[in-house]
Amino acid sequence: MNPLRVTIWNEFVHEQENREVARIYPQGLHGALAAALRPFPEFTVRTATLREPEHGLTDEVLNQTDVLTWWGHAAHERVRDDVVARVHQRVIDGMGLVVLHSGHESKIFKRLMGTSCHLCWREAGERERVWVVNPGHPIAQGLGHCIELENSEMYGEPFGIPTPEEQVFVSWFEGGEVFRGGNCWTRGCGRIFYFSPGHEAYPIYHHPDIQRVIANGVRWARPQGRPADVPRHVPVEQAPEKITARGPSVHDAAGRLASAKS
Ligand code: ZN
Repeated sequence: MNPLRVTIWNEFVHEQENREVARIYPQGLHGALAAALRPFPEFTVRTATLREPEHGLTDEVLNQTDVLTWWGHAAHERVRDDVVARVHQRVIDGMGLVVLHSGHESKIFKRLMGTSCHLCWREAGERERVWVVNPGHPIAQGLGHCIELENSEMYGEPFGIPTPEEQVFVSWFEGGEVFRGGNCWTRGCGRIFYFSPGHEAYPIYHHPDIQRVIANGVRWARPQGRPADVPRHVPVEQAPEKITARGPSVHDAAGRLASAKS
């Protein structure tokens, strides 16, 4: 099997502006995520960040990407709309997308979901338990009953997402809230996985089970097939069974709308 080509996208703002975040992620969040995925021979990993030309997401890069991961927080509005449109089209055509933590407010996630994607939150360094609610799901492989994070940011319900097609994780927080933190959807041919842990002020992406979930999520999101071959006009003589065309018709023989005549 060919290696799965993974592009890890990170806005890379907090790590350059906040000393504590830089201490936890000296190579950036993207560097930590890349280091977590690179040991697997099944992945080839590249990274891309906001300040690169076209945010590092040129046609060439996206055409060589099977699964894109997305972390953003402070600079969602600085992501160019034409790049978002390009990523959106690639997802519809089959590229997988793994959206992490505050990426729930990214342009690309909101466009794919079609809903607010809003939630409530609290930054208090409280305990989070990420409960596996679907242990048979491929993204939960290798995990125990839950992942316990000593310090996390609370994300709480209601979460303004369309009802997930598959639910893998539900988080509980020390302060009492719960959250649908591991959810799957398909859009067109593309698979989308959202995973909530990953606040930049805590070393969450260094946790082996969190890394395992992201690796599993990337595997799950791999392209599944080819885009639908539509729109496509099927001429009478190419119909699977022999037919005789009967009028009236508003299309000409090539399938174009004929000009209106009375
Ligand atoms: Zn956060």
